[in-house]
This record gives sequence, structure tokens and C-alpha cells, in this order.
Amino acid sequence: MIGKPPSLQRVESDGIGIWTDPGARELGFIMGFSERTGGVSATPFGSLNLAGHVGDASAAVDENRRRLLVALGLEHLRSQMVSAEQVHGVATIVVGESDAGRGAYANGGSPPVSAADALMTRAVELPMLLCFADCVPVILAAPGPSLAIVQTDVSGIRAYIGPHIGPCHYQVSDEIMSHFVNGFGTVARAESGGLDLGFVVAASLESAGVDPCNIVRLGVCTAEMTDRFYSYRAEAGLTGRHGAFACILS
Ligand SMILES: [Zn+2]
Repeated sequence: MIGKPPSLQRVESDGIGIWTDPGARELGFIMGFSERTGGVSATPFGSLNLAGHVGDASAAVDENRRRLLVALGLEHLRSQMVSAEQVHGVATIVVGESDAGRGAYANGGSPPVSAADALMTRAVELPMLLCFADCVPVILAAPGPSLAIVQTDVSGIRAYIGPHIGPCHYQVSDEIMSHFVNGFGTVARAESGGLDLGFVVAASLESAGVDPCNIVRLGVCTAEMTDRFYSYRAEAGLTGRHGAFACILS
């Protein structure tokens, strides 16, 4: 994929903050990580909660999703949006035109893609949304027209690692820490003693052949910035979800 190396810059529209790559459009796609302001949800979901399963009013979730698309200039694709029932699993689901609108609305409509934590597409104008509060969102953009990752020249992949809980707030058990240290070396353990998930994701991408110059990390801690992001840990499990969003343009 040609173009400048990926970057993440904050843009704001009607109070909605989005971290996006300004160079993506000329490469044929839009991506972004949303913040939590500018929406209509009430406490503890305030205010741009994008997830329908957390106890928030579904009408508010749908209005928030609409506002996000407006901010991205993609309101005309509102009914095409695809989301998934995220389960902390390993399944990657390839979605196409026939999946348009699955989980687009929290309040009615067709159900989301079931049991998937990764969505992949080559379809144009099919906005995909996954929701997060501490977990690491990753958006990968591959040069077309390859579909499966195994068929793609991975060196051309651009990787965006979004907001997630930082090692400063992510203490894990000795057992979990040794699992990661064994897999990625002692740098997986940050100076704070916490687990550095962003490092682990970046290292995984690099070992899969992604050029380090094509990996960008936002590097903010969700647990530290609950005014701008949702944090499941810092907010004791009762909170909303920000989003990772990607769409190939026509
Ligand atoms: Zn932190």
C-alpha cells in the first residue's frame, strides 16, 4: 500500500472526538477510534456509548452511532453498518454486501454477527464497528484486492492500535504475566509491573511480517482518561463502549 506511513490524529466534529488517519481517504478507506464525548447517553454510559449490550437505552445508542457517522461524513451508510457480538474469542468473520445492516441498530433490525471479535471485508461502503472499554482495538488495512490475510503481502499492511488500558493500570496475575513474558520477552512487563498489551500486539504484528513503520500506536491509557474513554476496570464494569470503525470507500 502506497502513501505516507500511518498516523493517528485527533479530529473533532460537534463535540465528537475521533482519532483517525488523515491519509487514509486517499488510499480508499476511512478508519477511526472514537472518544466518549458528544453523544446523548446518560451516566454511567455518558455520552457517546456505541454498544447495545451494556444496559444503556438502545435509542440513545442508535443516536450515538448516527452522530458518529455524521462526524465521519458517512451518515448515508447508517443502515449498512455491521457490528458483532464480541465474546473475547479468536474467530475472524469475513463480511460482505449480504451482511450489510447486521447489528446496525441496537433498537431492532437484524442481529449482529454472532461470536466474533474480528471482522474483515473487501466490500465497499460497508462500515464496520466493534466496541471497546480497555481491550485493545486494532484496525488493519491491506492493499486490495486480496481478501484473506494469508494471501496478502503483509509488508503492505497498515496497522492502527487504538486506545486501551495501559501497563500503568493493568496488573495481572503472575501466571498471566509469565505467559506473555515467555511469548514476547521481559519488555511485555512494563516498569510499572503491569502488562503492556500495546507492545504485545505490535510485536505480534511485526513477527507476522508487518513493517514496524506501518504500525501506529495511539498510546493512551483508557483507565487514566475516563473523561475521554470508557474503562471497564476503572469504572467497575458499569460503563459504555467507545468504537473502532473502518470502511472502504467506493
Ligand atoms: Zn494507566
